[in-house]
Amino acid sequence: MCQPDGGLKAVFARLIAATGPITVAHYMAESNARYYGERDPLGRAGDFITAPEISQMFGELIGLWLADLWLRAGRPTPVHYVELGPGRATLARDALAAARRFGLEPKVHFVEASAALAALQRAAFPGAIWHHDLASVPDEGCLLLVANEFLDALPVRQLVRTPGGWRERMIGWDGTGLVALAGERPMDLAVPPQFADAPEGAILETSPAAASIAAEAARRLRGQGGAALIIDYGYDAPQLGSTLQAVRAHARVDALAFPGEADLTAHVDFAALAQIAQAQGAQFLGTVGQGAWLRAMGIAARAQALARAAPEQAEALRAAMDRLTGEQHMGALFKVMGLTAPHWPEGAGF
Ligand code: SAH
Repeated sequence: MCQPDGGLKAVFARLIAATGPITVAHYMAESNARYYGERDPLGRAGDFITAPEISQMFGELIGLWLADLWLRAGRPTPVHYVELGPGRATLARDALAAARRFGLEPKVHFVEASAALAALQRAAFPGAIWHHDLASVPDEGCLLLVANEFLDALPVRQLVRTPGGWRERMIGWDGTGLVALAGERPMDLAVPPQFADAPEGAILETSPAAASIAAEAARRLRGQGGAALIIDYGYDAPQLGSTLQAVRAHARVDALAFPGEADLTAHVDFAALAQIAQAQGAQFLGTVGQGAWLRAMGIAARAQALARAAPEQAEALRAAMDRLTGEQHMGALFKVMGLTAPHWPEGAGF
């Protein structure tokens, strides 16, 4: 057998040699745990740039959305701001600065798996509380939940249609590299009827991890009050096809080539999340394009106000707004899903 490079790829090669191919979900979970654990991947010097890193306007409008709802809900206390995968805490900083002007000063909770990023978050929010998942977030007081580009990093499971029926999609080792292949166990019963007869080679992707977080978030909203904004790239009607992709140094790379050294993501199935959240008793406000939502929240007026205060920034502000809202940039592919507790007022922008 040809020797693989060091690092996680070598670990996978040994594991597969010893126990056989691993699932796509296993591959993605291990790769991203290694990837996020060791670095700050954000920014020009990193691998990718997210909306809050493009402009302060993004976080500010999220903060206004939360403050508006909280005020109209009657300023309930205690109130907790809970952000999933807060990265450099840029969004939290901008959102909570905007919210503070309306008297909203929640306790801050971060759900973060990366020690490297938690250290950056601690520098910005020394008083915050960190969690591994939602389970340890207080179960008293209303929750204002935010997740931007978090769910796309969670592992997806893939099923593939073979001549013999549906199988789990697995990752094996062909002697020189990692390769995708079909598992042996029949998985036909795991496929919804509308896809049962999909053509050979079709791939059905689901995210059990995202589903369980949506269920827990919705259950908490129903029991404790509050609202959630989930923002990510994804689709809002069931579809077939693999959306697994890897990005390194701002370029797409082969998803199997650099495990642990490239950001692995998959598109978020917003239709599935909405269904789950509603089944758990949350009020579903809608899923809209990021561009439409930011425009409805007044991004143009905010850009103008910032440009008046700093005219030399006018061109940069216009470019940032275009990047966040333009249909050919982040405006259409990225979506915003809103949830509230039942009987809470409806949030703006949906
Ligand atoms: N929301 C930030 C960062 C997005 S990157 C922004 O918009 O800039 C993804 C974030 O999710 C990182 O903070 C990463 O460390 C975190 N993350 C990824 N997988 C996670 C997991 N399984 N559990 C907790 N945090 C995770």
